[in-house]
Amino acid sequence: MSTDTLLAWASKPASRRMMSMVGLPTPQPLARGEGPCIAEPLAERRVVLGGDDVLGPLISGLGAEVVTESEEPPSALVFDARGVGSAEGLRALYDFFHPRIRGMARCGRVVVVGCPAAAAANAGSAAASEALLGFVKSLSKEIGRKGSTANLLTVSPGAESGIAGPLRFLLSPRSAFVTGQALAVSTSTANPHGAQPLAGKTALVTGAARGIGEATARRLAEEGARVIVLDIPPEAEALTALAEELDGVSLPLDITDPTAAADIAAAASGRLDVLVHNAGITRDKTLAKMDEQRWDLTIDVNLTSVIAVTETLIEKGAISEGGRIVLVSSIAGIAGNAGQTNYAASKSGVAGLTRYLGCQLAERDIAVNAVAPGFIETRLTHAIPFTIREVGRRFSNLNQGGLPVDVAEAITFLSSPGAGGLHGNVLRVCGGNLLGA
Ligand code: NAD
Repeated sequence: MSTDTLLAWASKPASRRMMSMVGLPTPQPLARGEGPCIAEPLAERRVVLGGDDVLGPLISGLGAEVVTESEEPPSALVFDARGVGSAEGLRALYDFFHPRIRGMARCGRVVVVGCPAAAAANAGSAAASEALLGFVKSLSKEIGRKGSTANLLTVSPGAESGIAGPLRFLLSPRSAFVTGQALAVSTSTANPHGAQPLAGKTALVTGAARGIGEATARRLAEEGARVIVLDIPPEAEALTALAEELDGVSLPLDITDPTAAADIAAAASGRLDVLVHNAGITRDKTLAKMDEQRWDLTIDVNLTSVIAVTETLIEKGAISEGGRIVLVSSIAGIAGNAGQTNYAASKSGVAGLTRYLGCQLAERDIAVNAVAPGFIETRLTHAIPFTIREVGRRFSNLNQGGLPVDVAEAITFLSSPGAGGLHGNVLRVCGGNLLGA
């Protein structure tokens, strides 16, 4: 639950006008997805498509009306820039977006599709591929005050079928708090996108008694997964209540326990389709004042146990083929933060682990990716002093903090069959937070 008073005021037209007049920030309430995913998330929406038009059928398949021009404000602008092979060719971006961006609806979506610079055939093409990121990041800052997002999807040659799932996520309301980011599709994948994509799958979420973990368990269950919820034994009561509500299984267990991997494998009857490493702690102090227990515990819970549990489950063959592993990093691990040398080191470590495992396990058809949340409204952030909390919220493109469900949506997407082409991505779910941007 958010305690963001400015956002609450800005939700009412009268107070919003007043806030504008006195120069207060007026964050746009975000349109979010509700309930389980549906086969056509863009039904009754209009998407203007530019550049190569090969994505037209894919976007129509999401229920959208795909047009090249629109008199009504479109919900999304999609530009396929894979044909842009030189610096001069970037002019096509200007020609497409300049006349249309002002007319895009509130909480709109911009998606630019490109090739990875590493796959470029010459210098101009490499520069043009990389230029797309600067373009998207800047545009996301310009349109964020209207609650709109802009993201880049790069697709390796031969991985074209892997684009459907990420495109669906980035164009839908499920990605409300993801902006200014790039996702790399590196392998092809099948993309069944009917209702309940996780039906018949078993998913385990660590740190699930509250906050982001609880929201994730709820979303995974909503998409059909049988969910095992894990948290420390003192949280057993909340955990059991959640497991009962979700018709899942409660596993009160400290993730640092040497038997954790074996206990998880047993609870999953030896076969886990989705593993979400969400449990995490902070033990903040500047390095000079930090005792060794704070350092050791933070690294142990946030990183060492994640490596140990994952490696053991892989060795045991307990992660099924087509499995998904989602880790939770943090923008503190990307930007660093005074008083958080231990936490930021652990979360950078998680990002490194994600890239390594993403690469290693791709050939076994297991997709490993991470989310890096920014300022999310949880018990953790509500405890921060008011001024710092306000900075955390407002210093972002969307001018507000995210909700646990925003991170849960990204994790649910990365857990889905449609994310099978993504390997080693660290996706910031931060509303375009300026920290480390
Ligand atoms: P939270 O404190 O509300 O929840 C974390 C959960 O992990 C708790 O239920 C806790 O009991 C559990 N946990 C802690 N140690 C454990 C252990 N040893 N074994 C098993 N469970 C354990 O935190 P949150 O805000 O929901 O954060 C969830 C994750 O997101 C964490 O990894 C955190 O670092 C990361 N994150 C959060 C934010 C934010 O703004 N809230 C920002 C960036 C990253």
